[in-house]
Order: sequence, then C-alpha cells, then structure tokens
Amino acid sequence: PLLILIFHLSVPLRSCCFGERTLAMIKPDGIVGNHTHFIKTTILASSFTILQEITLQLDRHTAQGFYAEHSSRTFFPDLIDFITSAPVLIMVLDKVSAVSDWRALIGPTDASKAKLTHPHSIRAMCGVNVQRNCVHGSDSTKSAAREISFFFNHTDSGGNVSEHDEL
Ligand code: ADP
Repeated sequence: PLLILIFHLSVPLRSCCFGERTLAMIKPDGIVGNHTHFIKTTILASSFTILQEITLQLDRHTAQGFYAEHSSRTFFPDLIDFITSAPVLIMVLDKVSAVSDWRALIGPTDASKAKLTHPHSIRAMCGVNVQRNCVHGSDSTKSAAREISFFFNHTDSGGNVSEHDEL
C-alpha cells in the first residue's frame, strides 16, 4: 500500500512544478478577439503547466510599472493606452526551459512580420502589428522572476493582485 501511495503521489509531481517559470499574458486584443481558448489550448498542448492565472483590468499606474523599462520610448503612451483598454489574462507557466519555449511559441514582437517569418506562432495567428501582438512573454529568467512577483507576490512597487480589480 505504501508503494502504491508513492506512485500516485509521484505522477502529478513529475508532470508539474519542477521546471522553470515564466509570465504569460493574453493582451487586450487577444481577449477582445476571443483568442483565449486557442491560446490556452496551445499552451497546454505544448506541455506547459498553468500554475496560476488571473484576469485583471490593469490601471495606468500598474501598466507603467510593468513596462517601466520602455518608459522613455516614443511608443510608451500608446502602449499604456492599449494594455489598459480591456482586461488581460495573466498566467504563470511552468516547464523545463519555460522562458525560451514560450518566447519561441509566441514568435517575434511584430505580428505583421511574424505572419511572414513565423506563420505558426501565436502572434502570427492572433496578432495584428508591432503593438497589437496578442500575447506577452518574459524575455529572460530574470525578467520572469520580476514579472511573476510583480503580479503574484506582494511588492511595494508592483501590482499585487489583491490591490487590483480581479475580474
Ligand atoms: P516583446 O513583447 O516581444 O518582449 P518589447 O519588450 O520590445 O517586445 O515591447 C513590449 C511591447 O511594447 C510589445 O509587445 C508591443 O506590444 C509594444 N511595442 C514594442 N515595440 C513597439 C513599437 N515600435 N510600436 C508600438 N508598440 C510597440
């Protein structure tokens, strides 16, 4: 009986939570364009485990904090308008090499170029252009750690979910 118990416990543990973590976000164009089901199905079919997920309406302060590294770019005000224009679905994904695998799955930043160079990527299939590219993915393990704690752990500068409008 003990062996059977160990076997049953080990199956879910082996398939979850021993990899790397990354932050994925379905952006407003993905939500409004009804791409959520397709994107989540693609995530699960690609052997990621969705550890946490939350739908939020970001306010401008939170969006500016999340995209702080781009604050000096000319597209920054437009980016903040866009990312706060409708709810977003934020997920923590777990998989070996989650950061690079998720970036590969979403494709290049500019969805219009992705349609030519990476036609099977999520951005090619669901995005429109360099801004409205449907999904976000952390670009490094360091970014992933910052972005996950920004939304899911309490930080003074970040956007703890309990402080926002969970939908
Ligand atoms: P990625 O999301 O692929 O990591 P960046 O970190 O460079 O790309 O940019 C963050 C987001 O800002 C992009 O996903 C996109 O929504 C927006 N963005 C990037 N470059 C531009 C641009 N030239 N014009 C408008 N929006 C942009």
